Amino acid sequence: MNDTIAAIATTLGAAAISIIRVSGKDAIKKVNNITNIDLTKKNSHTISYAYIKEKDEIIDEVLISIMKAPRTFTTEDTVEINCHGGIATTKRVLELLLNQKIRLAEPGEFTKRAFLNGRIDLTKSEAVNDLINVKNDKARKLAINNLTGTTSNKIRKLREKLVNIISNIEVNIDYPEYEDIEVVTTDKIKKEIGEIEKNIESIIKNSENSKLIKNGINVAIIGRPNVGKSSILNKLIDENKAIVTNIPGTTRDIVEASFNLNGITLNLIDTAGIRETEDIVEKIGVEKSKEALEKSDLVLLILNSNESLTNEDKELLEISKDKKRIIVLNKSDLKKNLILKEENIVYTNTIKENGIENLINKIEEIYNFEEIESNDFYYVSSVEQLNRIKETRKNIESIKKGLEDNLTIDMLEIDLKQIWQTLGEVIGETYTEELLDNLFKNFCVGK
Ligand code: GDP
Repeated sequence: MNDTIAAIATTLGAAAISIIRVSGKDAIKKVNNITNIDLTKKNSHTISYAYIKEKDEIIDEVLISIMKAPRTFTTEDTVEINCHGGIATTKRVLELLLNQKIRLAEPGEFTKRAFLNGRIDLTKSEAVNDLINVKNDKARKLAINNLTGTTSNKIRKLREKLVNIISNIEVNIDYPEYEDIEVVTTDKIKKEIGEIEKNIESIIKNSENSKLIKNGINVAIIGRPNVGKSSILNKLIDENKAIVTNIPGTTRDIVEASFNLNGITLNLIDTAGIRETEDIVEKIGVEKSKEALEKSDLVLLILNSNESLTNEDKELLEISKDKKRIIVLNKSDLKKNLILKEENIVYTNTIKENGIENLINKIEEIYNFEEIESNDFYYVSSVEQLNRIKETRKNIESIKKGLEDNLTIDMLEIDLKQIWQTLGEVIGETYTEELLDNLFKNFCVGK
């Protein structure tokens, strides 16, 4: 944290300009060593025209922004060099900086410094990363909201609520003679914990929805050969990405394609039939199918509606039973010979117009697209943060159980404290090195 770091902040390639960012206490002095002007005399938040020089050789003609601590992204002295965007030039300028004993920044290190120096909290840091990586407008809206602190503020309020109850309980225990202090009753805890639970559940739900908005829904299409998987896939993406054929077992590779359903991306994974087989090539398909099943959020299990269940169908029903699943009884244009008592069954055919409308409607229903649309912006985006929030469910359950069992208030306090602590970790008021390393390693260099 004491050293000075540098990185190329823009994409490296032929472009009009590229920006090299330098941050740390010696940033200005060290960049000054390779310019023709005296940067140390420049005012903060000014831009100067200069040459980058190596001894007498001019390496590039640049614009240099000087931003002095603490009014910078990292809160440290920061210099940004706008050089010409060619790869060779940018790399050369960076090399000169590294020769000045400036260290190349790790991924996300600028944002990590902004966090460690108290400039932004963890949910905001994550929002920075989200904003860089968003692929659609909905995800952008979510990220910019978090950057302005929406979720952090919500979590902070919950922690305040908890601190108030906890300190009230402690006063009650330590100073029972203070009569003007409200006595925390189990009724009060019940009410407050109900409120906290509601908020936590809504953040968890929104976080899961926001993941769908950002990454889309991974859909595995499984079924034994010849039931119509490729035909359905083709209908869904409306183009010929998979081979439609009569010979069983030819769709051996997983075909991946994406399409948008009302603004939500569906990533389709086509698979060969999952079945035990001695055929080597087929076996690769089988393994891939099982992989696809694991990677998927939603499984479309295709069955032939005009045939009764085969052993293979039964096996597929079994291995997919714990996943979010739609059972698609295809070839509904033929005589129906299959009766199944399972949830989420739809009839489709790929022959007639609108033959797979039932399927599309079902996907929209299962994911409650309307609800995803009206996402209320309170969410966390990293798996680590979401897992931490989910951990508080255990404490909430334990408090609810404690209330039922008439436990004394000081017993309930232990879980209240734990929720307060865990929520602190979510916004980074209390954090571990491991959590930070995990969060920031997904950032790009220069951010
Ligand atoms: P896959 O092996 O599961 O990918 O199955 P395909 O999509 O290759 O389809 C196998 C055969 O079933 C092809 O001859 C398709 O034309 C036919 N087929 C697919 N869907 C339907 C349908 O809804 N009705 C009828 N009658 N035939 C279909």
